[in-house]
Amino acid sequence: MNDNIKAMSEELKEFVLSTGAGKVGFADLRPYSENIRKTYGSVWDNYPFAVSVAFNMPSAIIRELALKGPTDSYARFYDAANIALDIIAMRTTDWLEERGFSAFPIPASKVSKDGLYGIFSHRAAAHLAGLGWIGKSCSLITPDRGPMQRLVTVLSDAPLQCGVPMESKCGDCTCCFKACPAHAIKGQKWQMDQNVNERVDREACRMFIKNNAETYGVNVCGLCLSACPWGKC
Ligand code: SF4
Ligand code: SF4
Repeated sequence: MNDNIKAMSEELKEFVLSTGAGKVGFADLRPYSENIRKTYGSVWDNYPFAVSVAFNMPSAIIRELALKGPTDSYARFYDAANIALDIIAMRTTDWLEERGFSAFPIPASKVSKDGLYGIFSHRAAAHLAGLGWIGKSCSLITPDRGPMQRLVTVLSDAPLQCGVPMESKCGDCTCCFKACPAHAIKGQKWQMDQNVNERVDREACRMFIKNNAETYGVNVCGLCLSACPWGKC
């Protein structure tokens, strides 16, 4: 590893953590470029690296979901975390651009017209950066916080010292599968080249979340997060 790359990676890590992030890691996307192209087209060809950032969600708020169902508090902090992550992504982009690199911040929340698809997978970037594994719930699970974080990604051409993807530790667990009231989770182990529809019925999830707005007044769910045994003290 080139010393300059190592030093810049350390400096960037320190900077991102100073903005309020809970975790940051770097992913080398080059071994997955064909798969990325198949999913998103050639739009990201010029960005072989990714900065993946996790922002910690309050664990009490996630745990409360299991007792009360979707709550206003969760909806509020979900939005707040997305705003915080978008700001971190912009500051990270600025940091990279000031050093002469190209960078593209991927918004923290989905921006497609139907709200179902992101323009790049934050979870895949976080997994490839070594922050955690993608659970059967399709959320990023980290050893210390389970699914209790939200993510943002900055794609870049800056060469970075990259992490190693973490093996899944879901094992035989079926907690998220059993907790999903929409029966959207299919209980499959994540694989990079697998279509997301093989793991989760996104339409069923979306409809349940939409109906929550009528029942609870908030457009969220998160029951699969509160059911996960990882990250619980
Ligand atoms: S957010 Fe709710 S509906 Fe969607 S997969 Fe998780 S538990 Fe199921
Ligand atoms: S609840 Fe169990 S199966 Fe689902 S993501 Fe967490 S550890 Fe994996």
